[in-house]
Amino acid sequence: TIALSDRVKSVKPSPTLAITARAAAMRAAGKDIIGLGAGEPDMDTPDHIKAAAVKALDNGFTKYTAVDGTPGLKKAIIAKFKNDNGLDYTPKQILVSCGGKQSSYNLCQALLNPGDEVIIPAPYWVSYPDMVLLADGVPVIIETTQAQRFKITPEQLRKAITPKTRLIFINSPSNPSGIAYSLDELKALGDVLKAFPDIIIATDDMYEHILWESGTFVNILNAHPDLYGRTVVMNGVSKAYSMTGWRIGYAGGPEELIEAMCTIQSQSTSNPTSISQVAAETALTGDQGFIDRMCIEFKKRHDYVVSELNTIDGVECIPTDGTFYVFPNVQKLIEQLDGVEDDLGFSEYLIEKAGVALVPGSAFGCPGHIRISIATSMANLEKALERIKKAI
Ligand code: PLP
Repeated sequence: TIALSDRVKSVKPSPTLAITARAAAMRAAGKDIIGLGAGEPDMDTPDHIKAAAVKALDNGFTKYTAVDGTPGLKKAIIAKFKNDNGLDYTPKQILVSCGGKQSSYNLCQALLNPGDEVIIPAPYWVSYPDMVLLADGVPVIIETTQAQRFKITPEQLRKAITPKTRLIFINSPSNPSGIAYSLDELKALGDVLKAFPDIIIATDDMYEHILWESGTFVNILNAHPDLYGRTVVMNGVSKAYSMTGWRIGYAGGPEELIEAMCTIQSQSTSNPTSISQVAAETALTGDQGFIDRMCIEFKKRHDYVVSELNTIDGVECIPTDGTFYVFPNVQKLIEQLDGVEDDLGFSEYLIEKAGVALVPGSAFGCPGHIRISIATSMANLEKALERIKKAI
């Protein structure tokens, strides 16, 4: 056996990717599995974006770029931040990375010392705690309930802060809950954070554009412009333009911190793929019609799935504000099912008995729930719900 590092032993592989792999393996073995685990839109990347990448390839744009991103893409990102979010950045305040995932990773590596605490509201995106652990930090989880719409209160935030708190992640609209914070709620959280000037705020706006209920998107800087000097805004093209495989994410923030994040990136991956950067620039500056079409489709599926789930005895599902996930509470159903102990067992039960693969809430720090991805066809969703009802 090979003696691996303590570091790698402290983390686990992404559970959402594991479910997808498990479903694929069962399918390969001839089983009919419907996958509701997907963390990516099921639509194709728009043609004009693909065409831009093909052109870049034909033009020989296939070499190293600046580590922090091409000037053209950075310009497009700066314009995006200005137009969509009312935020001003200079090129030195922008870092383009290999997906939003690398933005968070760079941030943890650049900011945390051993023992530094990072506040992570649950349910959380699966990668935050493990990225904190990989940087020798300590994840401090704030638990929420469906009754509070999976949002932390200012009181909960205040209680979680200690002299060791260095960073907080805010993800709105949220993967997995699909819930977004309102401007007033962000104001209230910002009021707490204002008293602790050493805490850096990471706002993960990855699902900014997949939003219906709360109208216009807002993040904590819209509520508290005075937090600009210690907030990192993270976003990317993965979800908004169905470009998960292209691996382009970006961050805007204080120059000192962005520069440090760039240093980490320069000694790990260097620049993100050259042709993907051209594609991302086109995504941000070109026709935005795709986003509306995608949202209309997701909303239709959302309405169907939420209303069907609520007809099942023991399932409670609140309508979301956006994203392509719903996050029903299934605790009562679990208690009714013989031989099923918890949400992990329930997910196992569904894959075995119904041929439906989805992710248990425990993976997101929120047991008693399941995450259903609606990023699959309506026909698949209808079939999946029918099978789930039958199996239980
Ligand atoms: N942030 C959140 C909340 C996400 O759900 C994801 C993807 O699942 C990411 C960031 C990272 O996206 P990517 O690295 O694919 O750009």
